[in-house]
Amino acid sequence: MNRISHWVNNKVVAGTSGKSGKVFNPATGKQESEVDLASIADVDAAVASAKAAFPAWRATNLSRRAEIMFRMRELVDANRKEIASLLTQEHGKVPSDALGEVARGLENIEFACGVPAMLKGGYSEQASTGVDVYSIRQPLGVVAGITPFNFPAMVPMWMFANAIMCGNTFILKPSEKDPSASMFIADLLRQAGLPDGVYNVVHGDKVAVDRLLDHPDIAAVSFVGSTPIAKYVYETGTKNGKRVQALGGAKNHMLVLPDADLDMAADAAISAAYGSAGERCMAVSVVLAVDTVADALVEKIKTRVPNIKVGAGTDPASEMGPLISREHRDKVAGYVTGAAKEGAKVVIDGTDKAKDEGFFLNPSLIDHVKPGMKCYDEEIFGPVLTVMRVKSYDEGLKAINDNQFGNGTAIFTRDGGVARQFQYEVNVGMVGINVPIPVPVSYYSFGGWKASLFGDQHMYGPEGINFYTRGKVVTSRWPDPRTSQVDLGFPHSR
Ligand code: NAD
Repeated sequence: MNRISHWVNNKVVAGTSGKSGKVFNPATGKQESEVDLASIADVDAAVASAKAAFPAWRATNLSRRAEIMFRMRELVDANRKEIASLLTQEHGKVPSDALGEVARGLENIEFACGVPAMLKGGYSEQASTGVDVYSIRQPLGVVAGITPFNFPAMVPMWMFANAIMCGNTFILKPSEKDPSASMFIADLLRQAGLPDGVYNVVHGDKVAVDRLLDHPDIAAVSFVGSTPIAKYVYETGTKNGKRVQALGGAKNHMLVLPDADLDMAADAAISAAYGSAGERCMAVSVVLAVDTVADALVEKIKTRVPNIKVGAGTDPASEMGPLISREHRDKVAGYVTGAAKEGAKVVIDGTDKAKDEGFFLNPSLIDHVKPGMKCYDEEIFGPVLTVMRVKSYDEGLKAINDNQFGNGTAIFTRDGGVARQFQYEVNVGMVGINVPIPVPVSYYSFGGWKASLFGDQHMYGPEGINFYTRGKVVTSRWPDPRTSQVDLGFPHSR
């Protein structure tokens, strides 16, 4: 059985807890690896190595840091297929989706190569007579990233590239369900020339997370995962004096107005709902269809769904892979079987596929959902698209703004004025206008509102740089001995 251990000081280090987790190939349903689950001592060893590496890494000049990150960019680019195949093997996503994940992660590494330009401060000459004032941004120290199963390569890249370029050292606690990509990436960082201890990986469960949250030498925590854990991580980390950004779950609505191109809207809804088997925090899970076009839109979606080829990522014909685990598959299937009892109309039931050895479901489509039904109120995180019928733009907008989550949303219309009004008044962090999955490019920042994010700073891009640095303002005078005098008043310039 393949064993996956921790990565500390640029090498693989066996765990000491005696506890391990099972890693499956979701397409076959078979266990392929065993991953060490860290003890408190394992986490402490990784933090100690990151702490020891910090002073020298912080002192490493920006050009040298950028040189390493440029090399990392080349290595990830050259190894796209290898990383993607690890994602297919442990997560189950099909190659086109896995390669897309690597490409979007790589964008963050490319952005990080330019971090030196983001660390320029301000400078005010002669703020007072002979006095200059300037601002600088400095790294925080040892920072941690805790990541979910659904983007095992991209989400760590959202975090470590900027964190390291800002001069911090980093501990990653990846999802224990698909941990191999993080180890492959760790070795690429070593090959790029990153010094020992700057990037470390500890695998684990709640024990590891809790130790990172209370370890006195961890300065900040970036988290991405489900809302209950995000809230817990935010509350625990901040109570312990850490800076925390914690991104949570989602329920993304796509509002389709009567003037929209319905074929385009149907294609977009299908791509965004069933891509990656719906295991994306930016997946569309609710189509809000205005009454007059709802029947036509549901019909267009219904006729397209059977064309989706469900199968293992190793089969080039597959467009949608399995779910991450047997338990998750059964939970997702439960939303579909429960929907009819709650009064919704199951137009396509994909749960027949749940009999397979692998953790597969076929796509499901549920119409006439309403608030109060489980399949509407909860994040499903699977290949289930629901349709809620609304009378008007206003009713659709209200549904989105009333929802507990505020990660992503989209409007489909040909009316620029309505689209502009929507972007103005919708309470969601990332908005698509005729774009179903509006994940911001790496030089903007990623983050939702409401229960989709706890903390003040979104992830990556300019807000990522703010998160991984703290400001210092220096007021400086090089005294002219001719002007020296005692003055007990409060410093002022007028
Ligand atoms: P999860 O919350 O179960 O796990 C996330 C991380 O937290 C993992 O590393 C896991 O080991 C750890 N964890 C799990 N239970 C814990 C506990 N009780 N105490 C401490 N740590 C714990 O999430 P997941 O199932 O891996 O990922 C899917 C979720 O992530 C979905 O809700 C999805 O919407 C969300 N997500 C959000 C974003 C975003 O940007 N907002 C992006 C991707 C995924």
